[in-house]
Amino acid sequence: MIDLVLKKGKERSLLRRHPWVYDTAVQKVMGKPGLGETVRVVSNDGRFLAWAAYSQESTIRARCWSFIESDCINKAWFEEKIAKALRARKRLFSRTSAVRVIFGEADQLPGLVVDQYDNWLVAQFQAAGVEAWKDDIADILMRHCDVQGIYERSDAATRHREGLNEIVGVLRGLEPPQEIEIVEDRVRYGVDVRHGHKTGFYIDQRENRLLAQRLAEQFRALHGRGMRALNCFCYTGGFSLALLAGGAEEVISVDSSADALAMAKRNAERNGFSADRAQWLQADVFDYLRQARDQGEQFDLVILDPPKFASNHRHIDRASRAYKDINLNGLRLVKEGGDLLTFSCSGAMDVDLFQKVIAGAVIDSKREAWMITRLGAGEDHPLMMTCPEGEYLKGLQLTLR
Ligand code: SAH
Repeated sequence: MIDLVLKKGKERSLLRRHPWVYDTAVQKVMGKPGLGETVRVVSNDGRFLAWAAYSQESTIRARCWSFIESDCINKAWFEEKIAKALRARKRLFSRTSAVRVIFGEADQLPGLVVDQYDNWLVAQFQAAGVEAWKDDIADILMRHCDVQGIYERSDAATRHREGLNEIVGVLRGLEPPQEIEIVEDRVRYGVDVRHGHKTGFYIDQRENRLLAQRLAEQFRALHGRGMRALNCFCYTGGFSLALLAGGAEEVISVDSSADALAMAKRNAERNGFSADRAQWLQADVFDYLRQARDQGEQFDLVILDPPKFASNHRHIDRASRAYKDINLNGLRLVKEGGDLLTFSCSGAMDVDLFQKVIAGAVIDSKREAWMITRLGAGEDHPLMMTCPEGEYLKGLQLTLR
């Protein structure tokens, strides 16, 4: 076993069970470990700290599997971790057939993401460690999950930083169909696991889709008619369908991608929602919001769920301006008493900064707003308390007064 020796004082984060060893913390490596090979991480004075996967090319030089010295990183270890991850997700399947069954660091499997869509798994191997154990991981998943196959979508940018190539295609079992149909809270969605974003669907927004559905239901119960809602950055229609299922009268959905909109329309048809309740607009949201304001449009609910505006800390200022812009213009379209659901999936922007940016937009809009609640990802995307970097999706529900 090869030892990776840390610089003096650099053991502190590992003693707090933070799982990443940065290149700048490494004093020396006692040998030449291969890509993804297990190394023993030790403090400068030789104390055991962790078992970790080595990655020569990454600034995260090693990702920890375990902080327990008696652990042996072998097939049985992976089987235990995977079984544990699957057990924790079991209860979700009563309301949905789209579940993130493995979420990297949170499941002690750094770099591995596995999503289940109905009878298929879609896997992303984003770090050298899980790449090295891929065959065993795939066999274990096939044994423990009742699925017809595993499709691999190892095409995230992080692969390159790890010195790994893109790999896309069937990993085990059969080719998945062009669109897999999933049902979440009684709403049907088609998922294109080959070309879709992430692994095909924004599974992480499940609770917030349900919130949107509830708001539409409550509105109808209170007013005796359905709400008028705007869903910006609608992708394949996640929030739009939830709103229609909740009884919204009119939902306008905006996205720049023709393919996403085509799928969104198919998804509406899949659920039998009448076409006159849903409008799908191909437009740039930044432009659309200004134009809607000029035309005096008003909505009972506005949803803003943009793509990641900040991919790292260097882009925070520019991203903050973009978030402020859409939120300022989005707020202006909300009727008095209506709601804004606003999100950011930029991990580099923390909750406090996001809230500050939104507060800035509220001030500039000269509106009065309450924050009703903070929103986040569903329970299958948990945050490992020792690895705060895992937090990325955040949102706010505001009510305009
Ligand atoms: N809200 C979606 C996920 C949004 S993903 C859901 O819950 O499923 C971000 C979406 O924004 C993508 O579909 C992308 O096509 C779209 N997009 C990115 N930039 C845009 C822009 N400037 N104007 C409109 N759409 C944009």
